[in-house]
Amino acid sequence: MAISRDPDELIDAAVARDRRALARLLSMVERGGSPARAVGAAAHTRGADPAYTVGLTGAPGAGKSTLTSALVGEMRARDERVAVLAIDPSSPFSGGAILGDRVRMQTHSTDDDVFIRSMATRGHLGGLSLATPQAVRALEATGWPWVVIETVGVGQIEVDIAGEADTTVVVVNPGWGDSVQANKAGLLEIADVFVINKADRPGADEAERDLRQMLELGGMREWWPPILHTVAVDGVGVDALLGALDDHRAHLESTGILEERRRRRRREELGEILRARLELQVAALLDGHDGTEVVRRLVDREIDPYVAADELLGAAEEV
Ligand code: GDP
Repeated sequence: MAISRDPDELIDAAVARDRRALARLLSMVERGGSPARAVGAAAHTRGADPAYTVGLTGAPGAGKSTLTSALVGEMRARDERVAVLAIDPSSPFSGGAILGDRVRMQTHSTDDDVFIRSMATRGHLGGLSLATPQAVRALEATGWPWVVIETVGVGQIEVDIAGEADTTVVVVNPGWGDSVQANKAGLLEIADVFVINKADRPGADEAERDLRQMLELGGMREWWPPILHTVAVDGVGVDALLGALDDHRAHLESTGILEERRRRRRREELGEILRARLELQVAALLDGHDGTEVVRRLVDREIDPYVAADELLGAAEEV
């Protein structure tokens, strides 16, 4: 049977546990443009309870996928439904079935209460920072109370995306230098929980000491991130990670910070949308008839650049 393209029908089907419908919704989000917008709008107006989002970031090879898989296992042991979004800015497309998905999440492939999906941009205006909240919205509306957002890579976009979660987990490895790198990448500021994964290797205590020192140098915080040791391949310490997520969540809820974070996130998203749109308008202004003329006068020194900007904006306002 042909699968619908109507977002509302797809959401209804996904609520009734139709995985193909959910995959289709996320493909539409990934595609960007009006399909993404239609999904976001339909999901937003459902007024579902917000999903609790956990961001997981760290250098490639740190063990994020292994850890995510183990964490999903812990959540399943508590009978929680969990969706995983693996955000990969470097990959041109994913179609939701890149190799990583199959390899990393094989253990959960037959579990109806686990949904794993890779996402990459496909010409999405504003890129993944706009696609991610739309994807979370689609998951929220279709009944996923936990969403783990794993970012593949350590660029600024990945850090931003992971840092947008309710709780952000930063994964480092033992040994000198890893925590210093994490600090340089801006990960110390966004971390709510630190995980030193591969704690079966030497240097975990040193890594913990380095992290602690850097945190203390950073001054007072309203929340001191716990520093956990895990061996993700053996599932060691992953129960403590879930416990740390619970603790941080309880802290956010009891202080009202959760609400504030979510409000700030909506404001940020709106800012991103406005910036993306204004960017397009700027290009249109520069390339339009008025723009060409104003640039000519600017080059001929009839007007200075600020007057040129005033003139173009003035012309735009009259439209
Ligand atoms: P990602 O790139 O951060 O997602 O890292 P992966 O989860 O793909 O892991 C990278 C490699 O590290 C894989 O070969 C894993 O088997 C291995 N690995 C993950 N966790 C551990 C661990 O706790 N100890 C050891 N020794 N190896 C690990």
